Amino acid sequence: MRVALEAVTKVYDGDVRALDDLSLEIADGEFFALLGPSGCGKTTLLRTIAGLETATSGTVRIGERDVTRLPPGDRDVAMVFQDYALFPHMTVADNIAYPLRLKKVPRAERRAKAAGTAAGLSLGPYLDRRPAQLSGGQQQRVALARAMAARPTVFLLDEPLSNLDARLRLEARTFLKKLQHDLGVTTVFVTHDQAEALALADRIAVMEDGCVRQIGTPREVFQRPANIFVAGFIGSTPMNLLEGECVPGDGDPTSSWTDEIDVAGLRLPVPEEATGLVGPGDKVIAGFRPEYVQEAADGIEGRVEIVENLGTTSLVTLATSGPNVQLTVPEDREPAIGATMRVAPRPGRTLLYRADDGDLIE
Ligand code: ATP
Repeated sequence: MRVALEAVTKVYDGDVRALDDLSLEIADGEFFALLGPSGCGKTTLLRTIAGLETATSGTVRIGERDVTRLPPGDRDVAMVFQDYALFPHMTVADNIAYPLRLKKVPRAERRAKAAGTAAGLSLGPYLDRRPAQLSGGQQQRVALARAMAARPTVFLLDEPLSNLDARLRLEARTFLKKLQHDLGVTTVFVTHDQAEALALADRIAVMEDGCVRQIGTPREVFQRPANIFVAGFIGSTPMNLLEGECVPGDGDPTSSWTDEIDVAGLRLPVPEEATGLVGPGDKVIAGFRPEYVQEAADGIEGRVEIVENLGTTSLVTLATSGPNVQLTVPEDREPAIGATMRVAPRPGRTLLYRADDGDLIE
């Protein structure tokens, strides 16, 4: 089922505007991530779709139905909470069958359905155990099975992987992606982990202060962040964001097509998509990822301050006369601390943002 929010605002007591005139549409069958820093309103948005919170204004639709004022039980959604919220005194089988009991499904049918769902999630051997006798990953699967048993039209997952250790989390991530793909149920999940959102989601909404800053596929938000907030938030190493100014190019100061961007004394061509949209004197911010920085004879000069091993690459932080610049190098090419390097972004790898509002120029 499609989920749509139209101009939704949520104000909590005490004047906290957790959602601010927010609109977005999630397609039927989509795996959709709500991503953003702590306090940006992700959980509030999820709970507003679930019906656990009521929007102060605006409309929530599931399918074509206006569910804004409906209680959770009438919305045909299932929510999996961060702590899984399993019933500790019930067995795995009874936990999974619980939503069916609420729907007054006869006992024998309940047991059969619960066993079937459990088998699909490799929980067959644990049906008679209680939650405390399971690992974190198994508990997570029981919570998912319980949510699935009710055959909801929308799945809502609040930080579904946050209680698992790093190794289990990777395993559970792959599992969750396959499960969602197989079921084809519209799924909305909350995370503050950009790597998780990039890995799992069909599309991501990046949120800040109760607003959506960008909606796009993982590739779109990674390759073309729409503003400097998203640019700084997405990516395992944050994008370099350096203030600069548009200047007339050396070739012909009278014609605008030769305009260049001056960043810390380095001259960069105006990116193709920004041609004609910036002119001499305009203040800009040049964004480029550490992965796209290379050594260049006429580049920005810097002194190696920090070298961090990332596995197959190392992240080098250079102190320059302006802000620091970061680049990644192959792990066997690590520079020595204190060494001098000259670096520049690879051609075609710079994005330009407006200095005043931080929006991508395109
Ligand atoms: P986190 O990642 O830390 O869970 P979040 O992005 O999910 O954060 P929300 O939990 O939606 O953010 O909170 C958004 C804002 O609303 C925050 O400023 C929070 O303090 C506030 N808030 C959340 N729940 C309530 C409540 N019941 N009453 C008052 N304010 C609330």
